[in-house]
Amino acid sequence: MNDTKTKEVILSGMQPTGSLHVGNLEGALRNWVELQHDYEMYLCIVDWHALTAEYQHPEVLKEQIFQMAVDFLAAGLEPEKCAIFIQSDVKEHLELHWIFSLMISVPTLTRLPTYTEKKDTLDSYAFLGYPVLQAADICVYNAHKVPVGKDQAKHIWLANDLAKRFNNYYGPTLNEPEGLFRKIPLILGSDNRKMSKSYNNHLPIDMTEEETQKRIRTFYTDEKKIRRGDPGRPEQCPVFLLHRVYTPNAEEEVAPPCKTGELGCVDCKKKLTDNLNDALRPIRERRTALMATPDYIWDVLTTGGNKARKRAAEVMDSVRSAMKINYRG
Ligand code: SF4
Repeated sequence: MNDTKTKEVILSGMQPTGSLHVGNLEGALRNWVELQHDYEMYLCIVDWHALTAEYQHPEVLKEQIFQMAVDFLAAGLEPEKCAIFIQSDVKEHLELHWIFSLMISVPTLTRLPTYTEKKDTLDSYAFLGYPVLQAADICVYNAHKVPVGKDQAKHIWLANDLAKRFNNYYGPTLNEPEGLFRKIPLILGSDNRKMSKSYNNHLPIDMTEEETQKRIRTFYTDEKKIRRGDPGRPEQCPVFLLHRVYTPNAEEEVAPPCKTGELGCVDCKKKLTDNLNDALRPIRERRTALMATPDYIWDVLTTGGNKARKRAAEVMDSVRSAMKINYRG
């Protein structure tokens, strides 16, 4: 393992949506828990990004930030190893966002998929600049890497491009961040779409075991497998995708009897429920304990914010120096 001083810096963020679900756990948190040992890690709860959609109801954010922080810790993130913090506690994000905004044209931003996909519902000036703020979130820590799935390389592109532009204009100052790619298991929700709170097809981590059982019963299965005895196609079934994560030897123990019809969907879902509940039990137990210590949760966020602010302030000093706008320096 690297010495602290030589560890590379990684930055990741998540919008505060309240308590997390199994898709978040397997798509991001598990990976972060592993990475925290080998990198200097900054984990940002991006409330400013959330405000682009929630600006008329900002009062919901406090509880959503709190629940998210609880899940981060319950999943195994250690505040001594990584800075968990709230984006708006570090004002330097907006400072670098402004500087980056100078270097990108409006037509480039209006062509980005994040804008074109939602411009009919979100058309604010802030929403147009959302990807620029994402780039600033990364570069304000001079991050070397950003952990992403293979299909998310485009999320890093703008940060890398803006860091390069800055360095070309003002001399080498910012790291040009790259994706830290890893394989993320595909997790689909009850309706066979991507698992997401907004589709209400998700499996929240904080569900009880009984609620989990009920939710899994509603999961879509292979439409051609109506009853036990019918041959199934596990690769087309979101239940099987979850078995791949939570059932040891799923390829040998679940897929073949599904295909022959020997395994019925009711039993298959029961087996998944048992394995999923077993895997989530320790996280849920830690979650319950953490919920009883709200002061500790806010302290973790404050301490993480202090650590993040220190690094961001140093980076912004070098940015101002490079631009020769440190007028009294
Ligand atoms: S037996 Fe299991 S894997 Fe096969 S279709 Fe039914 S739920 Fe899906």
